[in-house]
Amino acid sequence: MTLADRDKALIWHPFTQEKTALPRIGIRNAQGAYLYDENGNALMDLISSWWVNLHGHAHPDIALAIAQQAQKLEHVIFAGFTHESAVTLCEQLNLLLPHPLSRFFFSDNGSTAVEVALKMAYQAAHNQNKKEKTLFLSFEGGYHGDTFGAMSVGIQSGFHDPFEPLLFSTLTLPFPHTWISDPHIQEKEEIALEVLDQYIAKYSHQIAALIVEPLIQGASGMRMCRPEFIKQVIRKVKDAGILVIFDEVMTGFGRTGTLFALEQIGETPDFLCLSKGLTGGFLPLALTVTTDEIYNLFLSDEFAKALSHGHSYTANPLGCAAGIASLNLLRQPKTTQAMKALSDTHTRCLTELEKASDRVHRIRQLGTIGAFDLNLPPAQMPSFTQACLKRGFLIRPLKQSVYLLPPYCTTPEMLESAYQGIQEILASLARR
Ligand SMILES: *Cc1c(COP(=O)(O)O)cnc(C)c1O
Repeated sequence: MTLADRDKALIWHPFTQEKTALPRIGIRNAQGAYLYDENGNALMDLISSWWVNLHGHAHPDIALAIAQQAQKLEHVIFAGFTHESAVTLCEQLNLLLPHPLSRFFFSDNGSTAVEVALKMAYQAAHNQNKKEKTLFLSFEGGYHGDTFGAMSVGIQSGFHDPFEPLLFSTLTLPFPHTWISDPHIQEKEEIALEVLDQYIAKYSHQIAALIVEPLIQGASGMRMCRPEFIKQVIRKVKDAGILVIFDEVMTGFGRTGTLFALEQIGETPDFLCLSKGLTGGFLPLALTVTTDEIYNLFLSDEFAKALSHGHSYTANPLGCAAGIASLNLLRQPKTTQAMKALSDTHTRCLTELEKASDRVHRIRQLGTIGAFDLNLPPAQMPSFTQACLKRGFLIRPLKQSVYLLPPYCTTPEMLESAYQGIQEILASLARR
């Protein structure tokens, strides 16, 4: 029996309609930018395995750091205890993050990092006796994870519709997503800012926080917006006494061309959610980073004012060791150069692809992420995906949006070959 068959008998997969899904692919091992399946085929991982991988698969430095940590301390309760790797990881991140983001709360994944930020923002108000602050502001299309709080602020992503009656209510802003040569961006931004002004005028005293994926909405199709727009939103929101949460679960650790997307916006949030790339894609780990101003609001002689939240594997030492090793790689000049080379390759190849195929439109690019929309009937998208797999490219479109988000070890030549492959697939679809 193949791995895929043994799996099919037992396992229920994430985000998958099991009735109509393509056959699962058994992966035996991976190295650098490639996955190797059980039939010996190589697949170029152009989605960084759901946006987590930074430096390539099975990177020896990270593998070694985890192995050494496992022999020293695999885990310890994090209430009342601490350990070297957690402290070192936070010290190093503290040097990379803007002041005053200097308080670190660990959890396990992107959704929990968001839950923690939402709970901190709400309880910060509660602890100050501002009990009317029970609303959150979010963007249409925003995706923040699959737990209940994260679903509530991501309800307009379309991923959580059946759960709507169970979610708390949020105010949703239009998201002025844009692309290269978009003639209407100014208008779209103005509309969104007007809606924001109306919400602030009416509800500012009830809104605890705004949550946003800065610069790019991942799950709703790699939808990008302009940094100036986010900057204006943050200014208005802060002036109204509303806290700001940046969900950088996907955008963190270089993906957008800077270490964090916030650097391109020039505004610092009250909360920063990090996960995915935090361990270089090796282990589940997350951080919610906040300010001492927020932290101090939880200090009291009563336990009731503390943040009553924690997970069994909080600050797992193996994850922290992976995080330190990944940061070391990220800080190397050759990583910065590789990211720049990927960025340039996207720009060039996207332009060529748009010229070559009339099915390609709304090309857009941000750092190491390239994306476009495909003019193809929805029913034909799976055959596009399968044609990519057949040629050895792991690409997983989000509805009609195709994106390439490779690990930083991917060479420009490799990325070019993927764009070439896409161009050929689109040409063959056109002939049919
Ligand atoms: C993936 C993602 C999440 C959820 O992270 P999980 O680790 O899958 O729970 C939250 N926010 C953003 C922006 C994401 O891309």
